[in-house]
Amino acid sequence: MVPQIRRRRSLVIQKKFLNKFLVKPGKPVYLKDLDPGWASHKDLLDKFGEERVMKLAKKILKRNLENLAEAQNLLWASDTYGVLVILQAMDAAGKDGIIRHVMSGLNPQACQVHNFKKPTNDELDHNFLWRYMKNVPQRGRIGIFNRSYYEDVLVVKVHPEYLDHQKLPPGIKGENIWKHRYSDINHFEKHLTRNGIIVLKFYLHMSKEEQRKRLLNRLNNPAKHWKFSDSDLPERAYWDDYMKAYEDALCATSTEWAPWYIIPSNHKWASRTLVADVLAGTICNLGLEFPKISADRRKRLEAARIQLEGEIEELAEGTMSA
Ligand code: AMP
Ligand code: MG
Repeated sequence: MVPQIRRRRSLVIQKKFLNKFLVKPGKPVYLKDLDPGWASHKDLLDKFGEERVMKLAKKILKRNLENLAEAQNLLWASDTYGVLVILQAMDAAGKDGIIRHVMSGLNPQACQVHNFKKPTNDELDHNFLWRYMKNVPQRGRIGIFNRSYYEDVLVVKVHPEYLDHQKLPPGIKGENIWKHRYSDINHFEKHLTRNGIIVLKFYLHMSKEEQRKRLLNRLNNPAKHWKFSDSDLPERAYWDDYMKAYEDALCATSTEWAPWYIIPSNHKWASRTLVADVLAGTICNLGLEFPKISADRRKRLEAARIQLEGEIEELAEGTMSA
């Protein structure tokens, strides 16, 4: 029997801490009350100071990435579940860095990342979930959505004129459109989980001041100019509208089957550690095992082994008699 993946308890974030970041289904969300600069449990910080806590977090991250690589192998071999990771955030909150970290060490065959930008005309001509549905990971794989169908209740809610790019039937574009989209999303995610796709959603919570520093850093550093987009400042001007849209969406779409985590992201090491821990923990807790080999199949494997060993002997005999 192949052992399941075990995580060393000392290098795992306790569930009671992770639960702090989980959005309880139906509970209102007030982002102003959640500290984006959270770096650790207060007792831990008081006792060890930020420097040592950061070192520990990095150790936990490293361990979780090793766990994740093993867990992904099992996910691939058992071919029963897939995992869809959704990352949503304001610009410069660290989505790309999280993807880079989480993907490092994974088997590229069994993972995929999709970035969703402004929809094309072809995409706008379809139902709003269409372009995302096509990219849901297969069983056995981890798929990451860098932005997702949540943009259709975030950026589109902040800029309702985007709806004019779609020829929707009369009566659809009223105030109820958001409620209907939340409901469509909840049903879609239910459909995914019923088909073995686990949905994990992370909102990277960063302060407006932290975004200012990071954007400025991009402008001050020529090597980072390519990261700065002309839309970054205009979108930043809508900060409060985005926060409201996020609060509404997080509350309406955090469900038992597809929960949202609000990840404090002013410290990149904290957000990376938390996301990797939730992801590794979720896959490890599935209790997966490598496929069992039947007695009949074991006999056939043994026959194949004997045949291949026989080929070496034949080759050796051939070489000697030549
Ligand atoms: P980035 O991920 O920063 O490279 O930017 C992608 C841009 O595409 C962001 O400004 C998003 O708000 C925008 N975007 C993504 N999905 C949609 C959507 N469904 N409708 C309109 N804009 C979108
Ligand atoms: Mg951007």
